[in-house]
Amino acid sequence: MNKDWQRNKPAQGVPACSDAVCAMLDRVGVPRNSKWRGLILYMRGIKDYDFLDNEQKEQIQALVMEVLKVRDFSDEKFREVIKINERILSAPWNRALTRTLQETASLVQEFQETLFRHKGGVQKLENVTVEAVETGGDVERMLGTIRRGFREMASMIEKDAEKMVAMSLTDALTGIHNRRAFDSHVGKAVERAVAEGKPLSLFMCDIDFFKRFNDEHGHRIGDQALVVVGSILKGFAEEIKQLEDRDIFPARYGGEEFAVTLADIGKDEAEELAEIIRRKIERYNFVIRDPDGQILVGGIKINVSIGVAELLADCASPNVDHLVDAADKALYVAKSSGRNQVRAYERPRV
Ligand code: GH3
Ligand code: MG
Ligand code: MG
Repeated sequence: MNKDWQRNKPAQGVPACSDAVCAMLDRVGVPRNSKWRGLILYMRGIKDYDFLDNEQKEQIQALVMEVLKVRDFSDEKFREVIKINERILSAPWNRALTRTLQETASLVQEFQETLFRHKGGVQKLENVTVEAVETGGDVERMLGTIRRGFREMASMIEKDAEKMVAMSLTDALTGIHNRRAFDSHVGKAVERAVAEGKPLSLFMCDIDFFKRFNDEHGHRIGDQALVVVGSILKGFAEEIKQLEDRDIFPARYGGEEFAVTLADIGKDEAEELAEIIRRKIERYNFVIRDPDGQILVGGIKINVSIGVAELLADCASPNVDHLVDAADKALYVAKSSGRNQVRAYERPRV
């Protein structure tokens, strides 16, 4: 019988280990064929998984080292390690959740302030009305005072409502239009293009290797990179609006992906504009500053890939989903052809 094979034979559900690793586990006293052995091997393997960022990998590595150093292989310690491991694995999800909750909290706060303002307004209106009636006198003057009070209140509510609508259509991080705004805008843009028989193009713009960017510089700096890309897109749209009075509508589509709707612009021109934007982003020198504004690291580069498509020319029917789908396919080609480039949708050859 092959002794080595028997020694290294894993228990059911326990990953196999090489001779060297098994010998090391024996040396530090990890009980053979125990759940501990399975957990340690699993944690050693998970650090190579692609979906984890560097911070998570380092934390898991440190956890394994700590387990091997402390040599406490009790059930209680096992439960503790499992909990820490789960906390590390769910950290990115928790970060995203925190961001969403912060955004929600600021909306709720805004809503509360609005309600308070209205409460004050109603109180004032009541006082004005009671005062006008109590002091009596000229009926016209009395009605005028009450009318003014109502008008003030109505305009206050209107302004607040406008502000709330604007907030609900703005991406909290980058300050540009959000996905909700995109959905509403592109739907109307498609209808208009069909009704007026004018072209409509869309490009999907995705930051290249952004996971790696986050890994190298951290999520906070990653957030700043999203702000930079958002402001380049917004600035470009404003420039074109001012110079040529044309409607370009950039929005954060989700994550590190942006969608830009170009009304009355065909695919060839949209492709040229996309190329200008791609170069603007490529040329941008991203710097990391400390809280006092001093430059810590400079000259960091961000690249994007862009997929362009045109309504009708690239779609089976004038439908938003088909347009997004075609732009997405072109984006996929840009990514798989080496990234940092613009690709227009091409119909598959039959
Ligand atoms: P590719 O070039 O193929 O697009 O690679 P990629 O790494 O950019 O794409 P992938 O889809 O693998 O990763 C996207 C990353 O974008 C992962 C996620 O952490 C990051 N991301 C998404 N939203 C945000 C955000 O709001 N802030 C930060 N900092 N990162 C984000
Ligand atoms: Mg990307
Ligand atoms: Mg993406």
